[in-house]
Amino acid sequence: MSVSAAQIDVESLRDRFRRAAEAAAAAGVDALLVSPGSDLRYLLGADGESHERLTCLVLPAAGSAAEPALVVPKLEYPGYAGVPTDDLGVHVATWVDGEDPHRLVADLLKAGAPKSVAVADLMPALHTLALRDALPDARQSLAGPVLRELRMRKDAGEIEALRKAGAAIDRVHARMGEWLRPGRTEAEVGADIAAAIVAEGHTVAEFVIVGSGPNGASPHHGVSDRVIEKGDVVVVDIGGPVPEGYNSDSTRTYAVGVPGFDDVVGTYAVLQAAQQAAVDAAGPGVTAEAVDAAARDVIADAGFGEYFVHRTGHGIGLDVHEDPYIVSGNDLVLEVGMAFSVEPGIYLPGRWGARIEDIVVVTEEGAVRLNTRPHELAVLPS
Ligand code: ZN
Ligand code: ZN
Ligand code: ZN
Repeated sequence: MSVSAAQIDVESLRDRFRRAAEAAAAAGVDALLVSPGSDLRYLLGADGESHERLTCLVLPAAGSAAEPALVVPKLEYPGYAGVPTDDLGVHVATWVDGEDPHRLVADLLKAGAPKSVAVADLMPALHTLALRDALPDARQSLAGPVLRELRMRKDAGEIEALRKAGAAIDRVHARMGEWLRPGRTEAEVGADIAAAIVAEGHTVAEFVIVGSGPNGASPHHGVSDRVIEKGDVVVVDIGGPVPEGYNSDSTRTYAVGVPGFDDVVGTYAVLQAAQQAAVDAAGPGVTAEAVDAAARDVIADAGFGEYFVHRTGHGIGLDVHEDPYIVSGNDLVLEVGMAFSVEPGIYLPGRWGARIEDIVVVTEEGAVRLNTRPHELAVLPS
């Protein structure tokens, strides 16, 4: 099993712990139960894996009589040795096969007589249900809505990691001409891109979309055995985490030689204007849905509204997709430190598609792009 080492200073972790406990209290939750995943990584600076043996951070709400504890199988505890549990005031409760870790969680919480616990959004059902049995008097809810209040607001270290991820994925896009050529399949191009994503500083190529020709009209296409042809318009959407755990996610649209449809240049110009309008609109005090509308209005006004089939963006951090979502109906007011994608697209079924995606961070002055590759349709040699 692998546990990523802590790379966050103790002071920051202590601050996250305090704020998480306060957020739990404010949400009327008596304790957060956080199994391995990005929430655990956020709180402990270390992740690990979730499986049939329970690992769980027990974080009582501020004011609770119970104390924070890390429940972990004894055989996996060595992986967490780098976690500053003493500094965080976290009691380590190991258990061995044959013991009931869910009962252990209940015992640890007993002093607080919990009426309500929030479990990590992606906790395996086998643990969620076992915890329900072990804590029959506690209503279960999701921890995600509590922790997103913290995770949405990135600190300087997190933004630095996002910036590093953005620069790394920009270097991959800068090399696209090495791989994206007629006669090669999307899968072949995708394999080269995936290797470069790692070579440029990511720990893994989390996703690689090479949507050529009509496949570009399918926003989450992936790769296929389609052979790239001269004149194709190709959507390349790529990203992954850097060692700090923070993700890149950037899309550029390429043309392999002169585009094969004569509506490409004009339509692409609409998309580029829409993406710029959304970046310009974003800033502190602006709602998420206003940013979505800024891009959508430009596209709709040009007559392509029905071909922009997804939200304008998503938050990004330890997860590729997280709050805040830049979508109609989300009246969340953006704040300094929030990071999200701005990625409008225009998808013409059966013909071609295009998307432009940058990650931006909200600053006092407005939204700052972390991806700086040119936004024009990139015409590659054919
Ligand atoms: Zn996506
Ligand atoms: Zn993307
Ligand atoms: Zn994205």
